Amino acid sequence: MKTKVLIIEDNEKNMYMLSFLLRSENYEVIEAFSGIEGINAAINNEPDIILLDIQLPEMNGYTVAIKIRENEKLKKTPIVVVTSYAMPGDKEKAFESGATGYIEKPINPDTFILQMKSFLPHELLLKIGN
Ligand code: MN
Repeated sequence: MKTKVLIIEDNEKNMYMLSFLLRSENYEVIEAFSGIEGINAAINNEPDIILLDIQLPEMNGYTVAIKIRENEKLKKTPIVVVTSYAMPGDKEKAFESGATGYIEKPINPDTFILQMKSFLPHELLLKIGN
């Protein structure tokens, strides 16, 4: 069984790169281009991990994280914020919103998968091949 990764990201180029890197490593990828779409995809697919952009149209990533955490089945799902931090305090805000960790943009293709894997539950890493 493949590890299921939900990407919530409104930028087409970033989405393409993240999806490409993950699919190359045999992950199953679900793409959501807005916060609402992402929340629905999280509820419907129960992914193993969620990659979350902060600057999204309509609803920002902090609110998305809070809404995802409201769902009983998604309380423990790792939420990794993937963003460039312009303002001091943004990381703290991400954690307060329920995020598990963060990966800073620009994404480094050589280390991204390893960075992401560090947030996957140990049991899952043992179960899967990637
Ligand atoms: Mn964005």
